[in-house]
Amino acid sequence: MNFLEERIIKDGVVKEGNILKVDSFLNHQLDVELFDKMGAEWKERFKDVEINKILTIEASGIGIACVVARHFGVPVVFAKKSQSVNLDGEMYTAEVESFTHKNKNQVIVSKKFLNPDDKILIIDDFLANGCALQGLISIINQAGASVSGIGIAIEKGFQTGGQIIRNMGYRLESLAIVDGMDAATGEITFRK
Ligand code: 5GP
Repeated sequence: MNFLEERIIKDGVVKEGNILKVDSFLNHQLDVELFDKMGAEWKERFKDVEINKILTIEASGIGIACVVARHFGVPVVFAKKSQSVNLDGEMYTAEVESFTHKNKNQVIVSKKFLNPDDKILIIDDFLANGCALQGLISIINQAGASVSGIGIAIEKGFQTGGQIIRNMGYRLESLAIVDGMDAATGEITFRK
């Protein structure tokens, strides 16, 4: 087991509805030392690819992406989930269905912050059905930029997202892939 899998076993809680609760270190209280280890691991896994920007999605992706960005020495852009008075000028948008909130959000990135020559690492906390990732990929495509890789903390391998994204040809590096979890017993199994 790697460091993230060990932490999931120690502090993760399996909820009904295929939800893994990791709010004590990833989604509410944030373990910055753990994020730093994740950054070092992705830096090693993506050492052969060019990356000049990290793209993530609010809210949970931001903290992780910021710590990871220190390892790559690049800026972080995050997709916003709602229109705000602070968003002005032209924007790229994509529709994303939220797995946890069961609603549809528009995700938005200002055109100012993505350029055709950008080589982007996407970072997010979870991969379930892949909607969030497909929204981010759509925004990168609209900008004419390229996806260098995708780093996910926890992939739920029993849901469809991982396979869809890998079949699309993207290099997806998930630090923990959960292949099964049981809300009754709390048991979690990882892909070898
Ligand atoms: P997807 O778009 O791949 O279906 O879902 C990814 C998003 O849903 C992630 O960004 C994450 O915020 C949320 N999510 C999906 N599954 C889980 C889960 O089991 N636990 C938590 N905490 N968040 C999840």
